[in-house]
Amino acid sequence: SRFRIGLTGGIGSGKTTVANLFAKQGITLVDADIIARQVVEPGSPGLSAIVTRHGQEMLLPDASLDRRKLRGLVFNHPDEREWLNALLHPLIRQEMLKQLQQATSPYVILVVPLLFENGLDSLVNQTVLVDIPSALQITRTSQRDDVDEAQVQSIINSQMSREDKLARADYVIDNQGDLVQLEHQVMQLHKQFLEQAKLSPD
Ligand code: ATP
Repeated sequence: SRFRIGLTGGIGSGKTTVANLFAKQGITLVDADIIARQVVEPGSPGLSAIVTRHGQEMLLPDASLDRRKLRGLVFNHPDEREWLNALLHPLIRQEMLKQLQQATSPYVILVVPLLFENGLDSLVNQTVLVDIPSALQITRTSQRDDVDEAQVQSIINSQMSREDKLARADYVIDNQGDLVQLEHQVMQLHKQFLEQAKLSPD
């Protein structure tokens, strides 16, 4: 199977920006956030299982999942959170594998915010961390999303520490600089990955 890169980084680190630069080079992206929605889209086995367990009231009028209601439910019921994770994690993993296998570019990038936290680095050959100090995570995220700094800090606290991620990643992109410096690093890695993809069996 094709050479696979896992791309990760904390909130506001620049994953999406980096992923789009690789896509501009023709590299296929498999996006965990999109897949997490696909496995519960109307008509999916994932959504059926949720409705069987929690009833039609988990659906919005257009038959899509009422995410806000589901979030509220699992927030108040740890057992139901576990049940939901046991349902969704295998579905997400399976869909990631399917999309990784379908990719046609020389290598393929799996973009996952919680790549290490959720053990999804086991699906890829190499990992890339987009790294910035937490002060910059806070300023960039609060500028982007209009959320307050304390909220961003609490999300940072819930994610794996910067040090642990740095220790695990095969490659680190330093995104403290400007977009020109970022694109330069991406191009360097792209060249390396093309070489590695050539050497790796299909
Ligand atoms: P999240 O996990 O929260 O979705 P992310 O890791 O995908 O975030 P991005 O959305 O790519 O991060 O970047 C966060 C914000 O920082 C965006 O508004 C983006 O435009 C901006 N940004 C990214 N890299 C740089 C940079 N080198 N210089 C200035 N701004 C940047």
